[in-house]
Amino acid sequence: MTFDELQLHDTLLRAVKAEGYTTPTPIQAKAIPEALAGRDVLGVAQTGTGKTAAFALPILQRLSAKAPAGGARPIRCLVLTPTRELAGQVGESFATYGKHLPLRHTVIFGGVGQNPQVQALRSGMDVLVATPGRLLDLMDQGFVSLRSLEVFVLDEADRMLDMGFIHDVRKVIKALPAKRQTLFFSATMPPEIVELSRNILTNPVRVEVTPVSSTADTVSQQVYFVEREQKRGLLTHLLKEGRIARALVFTRTKHGANRVAKQLEGAGVHAAAIHGNKSQNARERALDDFRSGSLRVLVATDIAARGIDIDGLSHVINYDLPNVPEQYVHRIGRTGRAGASGTAVSFCDGEERAFLRDIERTIRRSVPVVEDHPYRPGRAGPRPVELASAPAEERERAPQGGNRNGGRGQAPQRAAGNGGGGGGGGGGGHPSGSSRRRRGGRSGGGRGEQRFDGGRSSQGGGGGSNRANAPAQRGPSSHPRPAAAAGQSAAKPAEAPPPRPSRPSPKWF
Ligand code: AMP
Repeated sequence: MTFDELQLHDTLLRAVKAEGYTTPTPIQAKAIPEALAGRDVLGVAQTGTGKTAAFALPILQRLSAKAPAGGARPIRCLVLTPTRELAGQVGESFATYGKHLPLRHTVIFGGVGQNPQVQALRSGMDVLVATPGRLLDLMDQGFVSLRSLEVFVLDEADRMLDMGFIHDVRKVIKALPAKRQTLFFSATMPPEIVELSRNILTNPVRVEVTPVSSTADTVSQQVYFVEREQKRGLLTHLLKEGRIARALVFTRTKHGANRVAKQLEGAGVHAAAIHGNKSQNARERALDDFRSGSLRVLVATDIAARGIDIDGLSHVINYDLPNVPEQYVHRIGRTGRAGASGTAVSFCDGEERAFLRDIERTIRRSVPVVEDHPYRPGRAGPRPVELASAPAEERERAPQGGNRNGGRGQAPQRAAGNGGGGGGGGGGGHPSGSSRRRRGGRSGGGRGEQRFDGGRSSQGGGGGSNRANAPAQRGPSSHPRPAAAAGQSAAKPAEAPPPRPSRPSPKWF
């Protein structure tokens, strides 16, 4: 399926294409037509599946069909999100996809002064993205009227439950007009969430995206244990050995992608990087060259590589291991397609051992270790016979050097806040790496909404946030969570586990 088949307006298609999206993700393919037809949707999908566009695109289309002509702009769509950070990201998505439309959005959340938000509310907007606590505060003070609401989105409902916001959510829902379209998204469906969905949805269509958890047998997998600073040497070595015809190399960050491509070029290996900071032209050129075979190595971040389908790709190399197992599965699925064989090579440094362990648990197999390479960690590494077939958990006991939880976490970044300063706009460039699984320390915040920005976030002015650099860690929706939210309705964010190293967001479609 292509986006063109989704009956979206040209303005939206142009915006989507400018983002480099070529094909709708499964949740988009399933949910967009239903939402466009006005149906309520129950989307069981995690972050990283493209669910934001799955609701934002049909909403923008609906609202633009009869955009208010000047004057008062009542709130016609409310998106409720559990965290300020997610609210910012959703706001950015509306700005990105709706950039050719005369619609406005505002983001409001707790933990910051309310005045800019009140100003924004006064000037009116079509879409309000909000966290529940601050929204209720502002409703109580009479600054928000939801009388004209047409569409309500509840995003990450299970996380609302986890974070103890479910009562606030119910209160907000009580204030909504009964006649409305409701789009309900949750990664998991614990009983309370099932009940809530039953109460607020009318004859919904259920669309579900199952996270990928199995790898194709046609892909042979290998892991190289290597010190972080030796990865570069190892990559050049492998590419110079000549067994790799064409490789898609994944790095965690855009800078990493640039660095690796530059180093390879310096070493005489023809390589180029693609990521969100590159122009559409540069990306397309690199892709064409890679497809035609004139470029041997393409270095990409997960998001930039989205939708890339290259026939006969022999190797995928995980220069950095993803912290989300499904992302690994998704990455290596680029090779070994259509029955062809392919090889997925992963570099694993001391800090990434835990990621490897999670990956092996998810794919339910251990990834064979390549022992024989010149960049083995200095100290005693895993011995081939004992350890090559043992799961990473066991192998981890072997001294490898490096500290898996060590200092790779990046400084927290500003959360997005394009709302306060006058309704919408903001955002601009679409983030190219999202990490929505955060549960950073709690601070400030109206009714206990979480802040993830170390207190530096502000609203107003609306600069885009850098999703890639925000602190990432496994939050409640990061995995299929069998018993996840049930019975945890008063989860205490303050007791959240310490941050893990920052990685780009999970993607699995
Ligand atoms: P979400 O699950 O909404 O957080 O989306 C995850 C990421 O996927 C976001 O960074 C989007 O920009 C990106 N994305 C959404 N839809 C597509 C698509 N059809 N093709 C490529 N990337 C997409």
